[in-house]
Amino acid sequence: MRRLAEIAPGVLVATSSFALTTTTVVTGPGGGCLLIDPGVTVAELAGLAGELAERSLVPVVAWSTHPHWDHVLWSRELGDAPRYAAPAAMHIAETERAGMVGAMENSAPGHDPELFGRLVRLDASAVPWEGPTAQLIVHDAHAPGHGAVFLPDTGVLVAGDMCSDVEIPLLDTEADDAFGDYRTGLSRLAAVSGVSQVIPGHGHVGDEAEFRRRVAADAAYLDALALREPFDDPRITVGWMRAAHEEHLRYVRR
Ligand SMILES: [Zn+2]
Repeated sequence: MRRLAEIAPGVLVATSSFALTTTTVVTGPGGGCLLIDPGVTVAELAGLAGELAERSLVPVVAWSTHPHWDHVLWSRELGDAPRYAAPAAMHIAETERAGMVGAMENSAPGHDPELFGRLVRLDASAVPWEGPTAQLIVHDAHAPGHGAVFLPDTGVLVAGDMCSDVEIPLLDTEADDAFGDYRTGLSRLAAVSGVSQVIPGHGHVGDEAEFRRRVAADAAYLDALALREPFDDPRITVGWMRAAHEEHLRYVRR
C-alpha cells in the first residue's frame, strides 16, 4: 500500500494507522531527502523505506520534532542519516529513554530498540542540508525542545504535536510553567508568515485558513483553561484525551 502523498512540490506526507501520526519527507537534490518523524508501526516504517526506494529517495538527514516515543522511531532500512533534534529534546530522549522504550513497546512493538531515539543534538536555526531551506522553530510547548520545521519555499509548516484538528493542546504538565510554555510555543508558530499548509504531528494537513483556525482554537482552549473552570472542547473524543484535559485543569488549579 502506498502512503506518501505529495501535498506541495517536493513535500510528501504519510499518515499512520496509529493516532493519525504524520511522517513528512522533503525532497532535495540528487535524490536526497529530509525525513521528519518517521512512524509508526514496524510495517509502516518498512513500507516507508520501500516507497522511498521506489521513488529513488534516500534519507540524508532526519529531524525529530520532539522527544515522545512516536516521534523518535527508526528502522535499519531507512539508513544512517543523522537524526537531529533540538538540544532540550535530545536531553530528554537520553534521560527518559527507558520510559520511552517502554511506551513504544506497549503501543508499537517490534522496533529495534537500538535504533530508537538515537538523536543528534542540533543547536541551529535551520536543518543543515543541501535541500530546500528548513527553518527550525524551537520552543517548549508540549515537550522540551519541540522543533517545528518551516519550509519557506512551499509555505509548509511541519508543526509537530501542535495545530491539530483532532487533538486539544497537550501540555507538558511535568514542566514548571507548562501553560506559559504552551502560550509561547503557539505564538511562535502563529507568528510564522507565509504558511500555506500545516502538517500536524497527529491529524490532517490543513490549508492557510485551517492553520489560522487551529491556532485560534488552541488559543481559545488556553484562554478557557486560564479561567480554571470546567469546560469542553469538540476535539475531546477519546478517553485518554479527556484524562489529559482533566490533568490540565488540575495543573492550572494547583
Ligand atoms: Zn507528542
